[in-house]
Amino acid sequence: MNHLSAEQLQTLREVLEAERTTLQTDLSEHGAKEPDGIWDPSSSGLVGEEADTSDAADQIEELVTNVPIEHDLASRMHDVGDALEKMEQGTYGICEVSGEEIPFDRLTANPAAHTCIAHTSN
Ligand SMILES: [Zn+2]
Repeated sequence: MNHLSAEQLQTLREVLEAERTTLQTDLSEHGAKEPDGIWDPSSSGLVGEEADTSDAADQIEELVTNVPIEHDLASRMHDVGDALEKMEQGTYGICEVSGEEIPFDRLTANPAAHTCIAHTSN
């Protein structure tokens, strides 16, 4: 990662650590609502004769919006953790596909980037 100066690395590390802290907070909040991360209709009160339709609609709306967010948070958390680990190992900022250096501009936009723009898989 010779293409990154110590100052650039430090800047990116601070961004990553701040993001990790935010993600930990967000994840713990979502986790409190849905500990397993899996929605089980049979235990939610949405199935059965006594289910209130307007409450059920509200709950479904909440679940539909929350579950993908939680998945994204966990995925993002993984990427941020990987990036910080790479900094420790000295392999940060290297494209995982081609092994080429990822430009600082791209890392600024996405400090957890695994690849250069040409090899972005998502
Ligand atoms: Zn590449």
